[in-house]
Formats: sequence, structure tokens, C-alpha cells
Amino acid sequence: MSSPLHGRCLCGAIHVELTPPTEPSHCHCESCRRAHAAPVVTWTSVAADRFRVVRGEDQLQRHQSSPGTFRCFCRTCGSSMACYYTADSPTFAYLADEVYVPVAVLTDPLDTPPECHWSFEEHVDWFEFEDDLPRFRAKGDERIGEPAARHVLTILAVEDLDRAAAFYRAAFGWPVRVEAPGYVELELPDGHRLGLYQREGFAGNTGQVPVGVPEGQIAGTELYLHVVDLDQAVRRLVVAGARLLSPVARRDWGDQAAYFADPDGHVLVVARTDR
Ligand SMILES: [Zn+2]
Ligand SMILES: [Zn+2]
Repeated sequence: MSSPLHGRCLCGAIHVELTPPTEPSHCHCESCRRAHAAPVVTWTSVAADRFRVVRGEDQLQRHQSSPGTFRCFCRTCGSSMACYYTADSPTFAYLADEVYVPVAVLTDPLDTPPECHWSFEEHVDWFEFEDDLPRFRAKGDERIGEPAARHVLTILAVEDLDRAAAFYRAAFGWPVRVEAPGYVELELPDGHRLGLYQREGFAGNTGQVPVGVPEGQIAGTELYLHVVDLDQAVRRLVVAGARLLSPVARRDWGDQAAYFADPDGHVLVVARTDR
């Protein structure tokens, strides 16, 4: 059996214990948000017989936030410690043998990461949720906000893989995520990836070898990057061996941007949006 996860309230009066496996998820419903004064609440749950109040049970105050839904918090410091449903809950009676504990009160790392968002239709618009977890309406199985297509990976065909990988590492410092014969994939922020494929290897998937870009010319592909420090980004690109196409200037769309070509002629733009 896995070792228990411990949790405690802010003042330390109440200590709880859960025995994994637990099932963490995020809840965006108004009741959770209001009860915790937070944009979202991450809960994890266990069967009731795997939950235990180790200390301070007499300090636990219960509030029935809706019929059959009980929220428990420390009567001294207010920390939310648990939530459970009873058999007379009109909607959640089927969860009556589960106990939900806010992950934020745990002192041990979660046994497994959160797996989804519940009640996402109620989410606040002043906080950004950028993960790829499924988002459900209420506690049902209807997924919402699922884009039909999402950009995750850009692959560039390159002449010399080592040269291209060294260039991108030096220019941006993105960590390598995949390294295979003829292919390197870099991990970009926000879940994006950039793949570098040896030109002949690229043909393995496409059935055709893409045209090589003659020295001194550019490919019809542009990577447009927002950077925090534009001067530093330009310096790094120059040191990495990028070829300058157009120096930093304010562009029609309001960004300050500089244009470069990578060693294979792909156009690279580093830009800053002044607000
Ligand atoms: Zn407390
Ligand atoms: Zn909720």
C-alpha cells in the first residue's frame, strides 16, 4: 500500500491523512471558488475509509453549502480541509462514499497529477488556464472549449542536424525533448515544440525530400517569437550565427521586430510588443 499523504490547516490545529491512490482534479464552480476565495480549487479524493482526521476533529467546522454538500474548515484559521456529499444530495448522492481534500493543504507531494477541469463553464476570465487537461461542463462528461485543431509542433527540414540543433540551443536555450537519429525536438514554452529534421529523414514521412534552400536565400517559413529582452535576443542570435535580414524596427502592426535567417534559411523574427 502506498504511504499516506498528510495535510494540515494554516494554524496547525487540524491534521488529516489520505491513503492513495487519490484522484486530483480542478473545480471551477462558483461554490468552490467562493468558499476558498480563489480562482479555482484543486481537490483530490479518496474513499471515505481512506481519509482520517489525525488531529483536531473538534476544531473542524462544517458548512452545508447546498443540500447534502458539506464543506469542512478549521474554526480557528479558516483553512478548507475537506468536502463530502451525503446520500440526500440531489446531484452528488453517488459520490457519498468519497471525501475531497484541497490539494493546497497537503504537505506531501500528490501521488498523481490532476487529470481534468470540472465545471469549466463557470471559470473566471481574470486568470489563465493553459494546460491541456480535458475541460468538462459541470461534473458531467460533456467536454467544452475543445478546439478542433491546436498548433503543437513545427518541424523544419534542415541540411545539417548538428549545426541546426546547436544553433537553436545557442540562440534560445530551449531544452532538447527528443533526440533520435536524424531528428531533434526542442521544448518551447507553453507546450509548443520545435522539431529539426534532417532533410532526407523528413522525406520518410512526407514521401518527398523538401527542396534545399540555396546559400544566401530564405525559405518560405517564418518563426515569429515574442521575447522579453529584444536587445539580448538579437545579440544571442548574432552570436549563434544567424544571418541578419532586417534590423530592429517598429513594424506596421505595432511590434518592435528584427528579422534573421537560421543556418538553413528559415526566417526567424524576434519581436516585442510595446503596450
Ligand atoms: Zn487551523
Ligand atoms: Zn466545485
